[in-house]
Amino acid sequence: MASERHSIPTLAALGWDPGWASAFLPHESAGLAPARVTAAHRGAWVVSVGPSEREAVIAGRLRFEAAGPGDLPAVGDWVAIEPVGAEGPAVITAVLPRRSALRRSNGDGRAGAGRLAAEQVLAANVDVALLVSGLDGDFNLRRLERYLTVAYAGGAAPVVVLNKVDIDDDVDAHRVAAEAVAPGVPVHAVSARTGHGLDRLADAHLRPGTTAVVLGSSGVGKSTLVNALVGAARQRTNDVRADDSKGRHTTTVRELIPIGDGALLVDTPGLRSLEVAGADDGIEAAFADVADLAMGCRFRDCGHDGEPGCAVRAALDTGTLDPGRFDSYRKLEREAARAVRQADPFARAEERRRWKAIHKSVGVHMKHKYGEG
Ligand code: GDP
Ligand code: ZN
Repeated sequence: MASERHSIPTLAALGWDPGWASAFLPHESAGLAPARVTAAHRGAWVVSVGPSEREAVIAGRLRFEAAGPGDLPAVGDWVAIEPVGAEGPAVITAVLPRRSALRRSNGDGRAGAGRLAAEQVLAANVDVALLVSGLDGDFNLRRLERYLTVAYAGGAAPVVVLNKVDIDDDVDAHRVAAEAVAPGVPVHAVSARTGHGLDRLADAHLRPGTTAVVLGSSGVGKSTLVNALVGAARQRTNDVRADDSKGRHTTTVRELIPIGDGALLVDTPGLRSLEVAGADDGIEAAFADVADLAMGCRFRDCGHDGEPGCAVRAALDTGTLDPGRFDSYRKLEREAARAVRQADPFARAEERRRWKAIHKSVGVHMKHKYGEG
C-alpha cells in the first residue's frame, strides 16, 4: 500500500507546533483530528496525518460557506478532519487560519465575482521562499525584485539563491548586486548541478518542520535544485492516488514533499513561476529603501513625479537610488494596481466613479453606459 511504500513524516515533522495546536483546540474538543494537506487537485485532496496519508474530500458545509476558491483547502493548509475508519476518504471540515499564503489572482473579473472569488491559494503556510536566479546570461536584478515582492506578499521569508556558480566567473560581483536589491535578505551562491553550497543552504533555511517553496523564472535551475534537495525521496513519493469528489480514482502528484533533514517543499504547478499580479502588499517590503526615502518627501502622498521637496527624486539625482530599481518599483506598482482593478469589481466601480468625476469637471457632457449615481 501507498503508506508503506512512502516515508511519511510525523505530525511534528510536517510543521505542527504549539501555535497550530492551540489554533486547533476548538476542533479537538469537537472530536476532530489535525492533518496537513499534501496535495490538492480539482476537488480531490490528500492529507497527511503524520503516520499515514489519506485521500480526502471536503464537508458540504465547508464548500457551501467558502466565499471563493481561496477559502478551500490548499496545499500546506492545516485542516480538521472527521475521525475516519479504514475505508473511504477523510472528510475535511475546517481549515485553520493561515499564517501565510501564496496567491494568484486569476484576474478574469467575472461580474459580481469579487476579489475573493478570483483568488486562488497556490500554497499555504509557507515559511521560506527560495528565489532562484541563474548566474548565466539571464541573471536579472529586476526579476529578482519581482520575486522578492511575491515572497513578501505571500508572507514567506525570502532567501536569494544564486544558482549555477559552477559556470560563473564573477560570483562576488553578482552576490553584491543581489544584496543591493535585496537588503537584509540572505544570499546563497550554489550549484544545483554539482551540489556546491546546498548543504549550507539547507542547514540555514530548511530546518525540520520548515515549509519552503522554490520560485524563479524558467531556466534558472528550479527543477534541478528541487531534485537535488529532494534527492531520491521524490522518486519514491511522487504520485499518490486520490478520490475526487465524485468518487472517481485519480492519480495526484504529491505537492508537499519531505526533503532531506525534515523540511518540506511545496511544489505545485503554477507556483514556481508565480507573477507579481496581486502582490501589492509585497512591494512596500521588497522596496523598503524606496519607502524609507518617500518618508522624507514633503508631501505624504508624493507621487515622485516632480513634486517639490521630493526625497526620492533627490536620491535619483544624487545616484543614491538606482533609476533601474526605481523604474522596477514603478512598474510593479502599476501591475499590482491593474491586477486589483481587474479582480475587484469594487475597485473597478471606484475607477469608473473617478472617470465620471473627471468627465464632469472638464465639462464633457456625455451619456455613458454606467448611468448616473
Ligand atoms: P527550471 O526551468 O528553472 O526548472 O530550470 P532547470 O532545472 O530545468 O534547468 C535549466 C537548465 O539549467 C538545464 O539545462 C540545467 O541542466 C541547467 N542547470 C541547472 N542548474 C545548474 C547548475 O547549477 N549549473 C549549471 N551549469 N547548469 C545548471
Ligand atoms: Zn517624492
